[in-house]
Amino acid sequence: IWGQACAELEQSVGPNNYNHWIKPLRLTAIDEGAARFVSPTRFISDWVNRHFAKDIMAVLTRNGATVERLRFDVGSPAPRATAQAAAPAGQAPEAPTTRAPRTDLGAPLDPRYTFTNFVVGKPNELAHAAARRVAEGGPVGFNPLFLYGGVGLGKTHLMHAIAQDYQARHPSAQVLYLSAEQFMYRFVQALRESSIMDFKGMFRNVNMLMVDDVQFIAGKDSTQEEFFHTFNALVDQGKQIVISADRAPAEIKGLEERIKSRLSCGLIVDLHPTTYELRLGILQSKTEVFCAQQPDLEIGAGVLEFLAHRITTNVRVLEGALQRLFAHASLLRREITLEVAQECLADILRTNDRKINIDDIQRKVAEHFNIRLADMMGPKRARNVARPRQIAMYLSKQLTSRSLPEIGRRFGGRDHTTIMHGVRKIEELLVEDSAMVEDIAVLKRMLEA
Ligand code: ADP
Ligand code: MG
Repeated sequence: IWGQACAELEQSVGPNNYNHWIKPLRLTAIDEGAARFVSPTRFISDWVNRHFAKDIMAVLTRNGATVERLRFDVGSPAPRATAQAAAPAGQAPEAPTTRAPRTDLGAPLDPRYTFTNFVVGKPNELAHAAARRVAEGGPVGFNPLFLYGGVGLGKTHLMHAIAQDYQARHPSAQVLYLSAEQFMYRFVQALRESSIMDFKGMFRNVNMLMVDDVQFIAGKDSTQEEFFHTFNALVDQGKQIVISADRAPAEIKGLEERIKSRLSCGLIVDLHPTTYELRLGILQSKTEVFCAQQPDLEIGAGVLEFLAHRITTNVRVLEGALQRLFAHASLLRREITLEVAQECLADILRTNDRKINIDDIQRKVAEHFNIRLADMMGPKRARNVARPRQIAMYLSKQLTSRSLPEIGRRFGGRDHTTIMHGVRKIEELLVEDSAMVEDIAVLKRMLEA
């Protein structure tokens, strides 16, 4: 049944998802509506549970098994014999769990976030080099390693890479990776269950502690306090600490001074915004991986360059765009040309382009027509003010994702019907008035520059 189910799943979730997430699973038993799987890592089973549970249940049910729930055991997929022995008896096998207690404390590591999969370029070379050194067992001066940078620039990726590389070098070491949010959650839970001594004990026993997105504990006083003690205890024992945040320690508001200064006493490195070259490198490397799995896939000339040029902020968004293109291509069995890419990614491209906001629009339009900015919001109805105001409304509708009521609020609390009227008026004028066409074109060019 699983063989047939797999064939159908490959169709329904796509070969890429299938190979990555579903293929590593082994079905061990179906028992009282629960399908039981062994998954090599907790990360994979969590992911599958979140994203593909419905598909799997549907396919199994279609193939004659009644399945309402999925259960996952984490362990090596080898003990098939157990499964076969157990399944006919209608009994779920004992979970061949290899989960050490520490995984309960930390968060699972993504097997794809390795150094090998990390593309190095100017903006991240320092962070990457520091991460490598720490994974090798860095010098004292690298403790703590503090990585910071904007969203989607690779902080979490580098932290997982450090954890996995270090763990591979030191199989018996306790490496604990978790987000600051999870740290707080565990702490509060320990307080509630009066198990704070266990909590302290577990944290004080690790060889490497990694806390992601530490800005989260800013303003959370008792959590900060506990974090500070944990931190000090580990540093005193010469244990490595790796921290990430969205900004430098000194810039994190609501974080105690003594914590800031402790965080700053090791090595601080930042991940800079990506450059065109780095984005292109990342796209090329992901495409190679994908094409190795799907050799008949064709990516037209200039497509990757186009993406690297247009999607500039967040590597996650860049990856998402590429994933979508691949899915599109493999479903429709079509070459990905520049036109296909533009069409298929229209929404992503739009939100990435349009970081234009209503303030910018109002300011630029007021300047262009030489009126006061306040008149954008004000009540004046004279044509020389009302028309530019309508133009600004029109541009706000076109260039931002704001709704009419939201735009209305920004224009001095006007009703959404007023905004709609303004937008329509400009649309009408655009048909008959070439000066209007010219004005709008100029303004758009200025705003999009
Ligand atoms: P952050 O934690 O800084 O918000 P992540 O580490 O989650 O960012 O990165 C977002 C996504 O982008 C991840 O899927 C990651 O693998 C990918 N990514 C970021 N930088 C790189 C890079 N230099 N090479 C390859 N993939 C990258
Ligand atoms: Mg992150």
